[in-house]
Amino acid sequence: MKNLIRSLTLVRSARRKVALLFLIGFTSALLSSMVPFIISRLINVLVELTKSAESVTAVTQKIALYIGLFALFGLVDALIISIEGTQTNKISSYLNTVLSLQVFRKLSSLSTDYFEAKQPGAILRKVNDGINAITAWMYDLVYGLILSAGLAIFGLVALWFKFPLIGLIATISFPILVYLFLRTSKKAKPIYKKSRKAQEKADGKLSETFSHITTIRTMSAEQRNYKKFEKTIYQSQEYEYEAADLWRFSVWLRVSISRLTYAVSLGIIAYLVVRKQATVGDIVLVSLLLQQVMGQALSIGRFFDQTIKRDVAVGRLLEVIDEQPTLPDRSDALPLVSLESIEFRNVSFTYPDSKKGAIKNISFVIEGNKTLALVGPSGTGKSTITKLLLRFYAPTEGQILVNGQDIATYTQDSIREQMGVVMQDVALFNTTIEENLAIANDRAAKDAVRLAAKQAHADEFIVSLPKKYKTLVGERGIKLSGGQKQRVAIARAILKDPQLIILDEATSALDSESERLVQAGLGKLMAGRSALVIAHRLSTIMHADEILVMKQGKILERGTHRQLLANNNLYKKLFDLQSSGKKN
Ligand code: ADP
Repeated sequence: MKNLIRSLTLVRSARRKVALLFLIGFTSALLSSMVPFIISRLINVLVELTKSAESVTAVTQKIALYIGLFALFGLVDALIISIEGTQTNKISSYLNTVLSLQVFRKLSSLSTDYFEAKQPGAILRKVNDGINAITAWMYDLVYGLILSAGLAIFGLVALWFKFPLIGLIATISFPILVYLFLRTSKKAKPIYKKSRKAQEKADGKLSETFSHITTIRTMSAEQRNYKKFEKTIYQSQEYEYEAADLWRFSVWLRVSISRLTYAVSLGIIAYLVVRKQATVGDIVLVSLLLQQVMGQALSIGRFFDQTIKRDVAVGRLLEVIDEQPTLPDRSDALPLVSLESIEFRNVSFTYPDSKKGAIKNISFVIEGNKTLALVGPSGTGKSTITKLLLRFYAPTEGQILVNGQDIATYTQDSIREQMGVVMQDVALFNTTIEENLAIANDRAAKDAVRLAAKQAHADEFIVSLPKKYKTLVGERGIKLSGGQKQRVAIARAILKDPQLIILDEATSALDSESERLVQAGLGKLMAGRSALVIAHRLSTIMHADEILVMKQGKILERGTHRQLLANNNLYKKLFDLQSSGKKN
C-alpha cells in the first residue's frame, strides 16, 4: 500500500474535498443502519396486533410513525447519496487533472535518453493506469472502506447491544472474512505485477506498430508483428488467469464461513423466540444486521484486494514521476541571450548504453556567419555532434563552449531557442500546416507566417492544397512529400529566427526538383546566420567555410573544399565517387 499512500502526497490539494466525502459517507452509513431497527419495530407492532389491547387508532398511529420515519430516512439518504455521487465524480475529475498535469510536466522535463530508450505506448499505459488507480482508490476508500466499515461497526454494535452471543459470533467471523481476502491478494500481488508489465509491453508494441506501419507493410512483416503482439497480450492474459485461479479456494472458504455464521445466528435467535426471549421482529432485525455485517466484510475485503492491485499500478506511475532528468540545468544556469560562437574543444562522447565511443576528440569553432560542414560515411558521429550541440547529451570528455563559456552555464531551453534545426526526417504534428508553423513562434502574425512560408518556397505548394494553410498533415506529416515537409520545416526555422542553423542531411533524400526548392529555401534561412551542415551530397557544402571529414568518430581531415581536394584523401575519393555517379 506504500505506493498509494505516497501518491496521496501528489494530490494533497484535494484533501478538503476528500474529507468532506468521508463525512458524507459516514453519515450515509449511520442513516442506513437505522433502517433494520425501524423494520423490526414495524413487524413487532403488526405481530402484536391480534394480542394487543391497544385501540386500532393507537396502533395505526404507531405504524404511521414507523412508515413515516422509514420514508424520512429514505429521503434524507437519497439527498446524501446524490451529493456523494456528484462529489465523487468531481473529485475523480479533479485528481485526474492534477495528476495529468504533474505527469506532463515531468515527462517534458526528462532528458532525451529517456525517450530514446522507452516505447511511448508503454509509458502511456503506465501513466493512464496509474492515474485511474489513484482516482478509483479514492472512490474505494469512501465506498469500500469508510462506508462499509461504518455500516459494519454500527451493525456489530447493534448486534452486541441486542443479542451479545450473536454479536460475538459475528465479531469473530468478520475479521476472518477480511483476512481471507487479504491473504489471497498478497499472494496474487507478484502475478498482478507481471501481468501489468506484459500489458505495458503489448501497448509498447501497439504504439510502435502505429508509428512504423509503413515500414512494417513494406517489409511484409504484418504477420510477424501481429504474432509478437499476440504473444505479449496472451502472456498478460495468462497471468490474469493465474491470479483468478488463486481466488477459487479463498472465495469458497469465505462464503462458507459467512453462511455458517448466518445459520448459527438464526438458530440462536429462533431458539430465543421459542423461549419468548425474542420477538419475530428480532428475527428480521438479526437477519438484516447480519446481512449488513457480512456484506460489508465482503466490501472491505474487496477493497483490500483492489488496493493491492491499484498499488501495483500506482507504483508503475511513480516510476515515471520519480524519473529525474539525466541532464538537468545547473541551479545557477543563465539564459543565453545572444549566440556569438560555439566551440567544441577535444570533445568525446559515448552513449549511456553503449561501450564504443560515438565521437572522439572533436574540436572546431563556429562563429559569425560561418558555415561548418560535417561529411563522412554514416555512423561516424555527425548527428551525435548535433545532439551534443542541442544539449540532448553532455560530452563524456572535453568541453563545449558557448560564447567562450561552458555550455552548462546556460539553460538548455535558451540554448535551443537560438538554434533552428532541419533534419532529413521532419516530424510534423498531426494538425494543420498553420499550427505546425506557429509551433516555432506562436506570437507570429499571419503575415509573418505567410512570408516565412514564401521564403522557404512552401507557400507555393500550400496554397494549392484543398484547405491551404488549414490543411491537416496527418500523423508525423504523412500526407506531405519529403520535400514539402522539409520546406515546412525551413519556414518553421525562419519563423523562429535563430542564430545558428543546424541542417542534418536536410536534402539527402530529395529528388532534384525538390532539392532545388529546398536549397533555395535553405539559402534564405542561412543568410546572415552561422550554420552547421551535415550533408551526404558534397555539392551542397562546397561553399562551406570549413569542412570536417569524419571517419569512425574522429576527424580525418579538415579544410575548405579546395584544400580537401588538393589533399587527395577521403574527401577527394568521396567527391570523385559522387561526380562520376552524376556523369553516369
Ligand atoms: P552519423 O550521423 O554520422 O550517421 P551518428 O552520430 O548517428 O552517426 O552515430 C554515431 C554512432 O553512435 C553510431 O555507431 C551509432 O550506432 C551510435 N548511436 C547513435 N545514436 C545512439 C543512441 N541513441 N544510443 C546508442 N548509440 C547510438
